[in-house]
Amino acid sequence: MKPDLPLLPTTAVGSLPKPPEILEARRKGWGAKKLEPLEKNAIRRWIKIQEEIGLDVLVDGEFYRGDMVAYFAQNLEGFRMGGLVRSYGNRYYRKPIIVKEVKYRKPITVKWWKFTQSLTKKPVKAILTGPYTMMDWSFNEYYPDREQACLALAKELRKEVRNLYKAGARIIQIDEPAISARPQELPLAKKAMEIMVHGLDDVYFICHICYGAFEYIYPQMLELPIQNFDLEMSNSELDLMELFHRHPFTKDISFGVIDVHSHIIETVDQVKERIQKALNVLNPRQIWVDPDCGLKTRTEEEAIGKLKAMVEATRQVRASIE
Ligand SMILES: [Zn+2]
Repeated sequence: MKPDLPLLPTTAVGSLPKPPEILEARRKGWGAKKLEPLEKNAIRRWIKIQEEIGLDVLVDGEFYRGDMVAYFAQNLEGFRMGGLVRSYGNRYYRKPIIVKEVKYRKPITVKWWKFTQSLTKKPVKAILTGPYTMMDWSFNEYYPDREQACLALAKELRKEVRNLYKAGARIIQIDEPAISARPQELPLAKKAMEIMVHGLDDVYFICHICYGAFEYIYPQMLELPIQNFDLEMSNSELDLMELFHRHPFTKDISFGVIDVHSHIIETVDQVKERIQKALNVLNPRQIWVDPDCGLKTRTEEEAIGKLKAMVEATRQVRASIE
């Protein structure tokens, strides 16, 4: 079901710059209890900032997460944390190991979603890492194969989706950055996604995929049972538009119009140009406007500058087509 939002809804992908005091406290090894007040302060501050900028769908900023896979692995039963491995570029993460049956013990992000939503009247997007990526970015020492590990994760993570739903979340984003790595496993990713979303017809599901070789999974990826794909567009020089020309994009899209890898703040005109490129091949009703993923790698000042340019550009484009 489509949420009630203005044309070209604006949002952020998920992560926002972590305040220095949280980074410092994490370096010192503070535990979750001690970190929580700092993380709540950061959420309060960023909800205000997002409202002031004028975003339509807000995020909690993921300040409470170290890493998108390790965070969920630590909160599920069945994982042990392994050593540091390189994921992409110069990013390192602690690769979890599945050592026994995966079990959902308790709600993971639900209290954060509830807290964040209590601070604003705007809808807050709930965000969790998907089963395919959890499987792909972990070592599996327990399940006989990747499929069984992935489907077991889907059955457990689905409980988190249900709990988010019960708490009131109606826009839920499932992050699956690993999905494009092995095109031959797309049917498995689809099967896992079906388990995740099953029976929740009044939820608007977004699937975030980044740094992918989309030419190998497009248009098949359109079969995933979700409503909106959040894709990194600016960093790939909008190559995807070529693919959309050849085969129409049939879902909604959260269209990345901000290059988060650059310190330089885009001008309103630059962003308008990128939105215009989306409008050349897509219906305005299909398009959400957001940055590429990884806003947390920018300073707060840069992130705010970029989001402001994005919202202003969207307003101007909206006015020209409404
Ligand atoms: Zn991403």
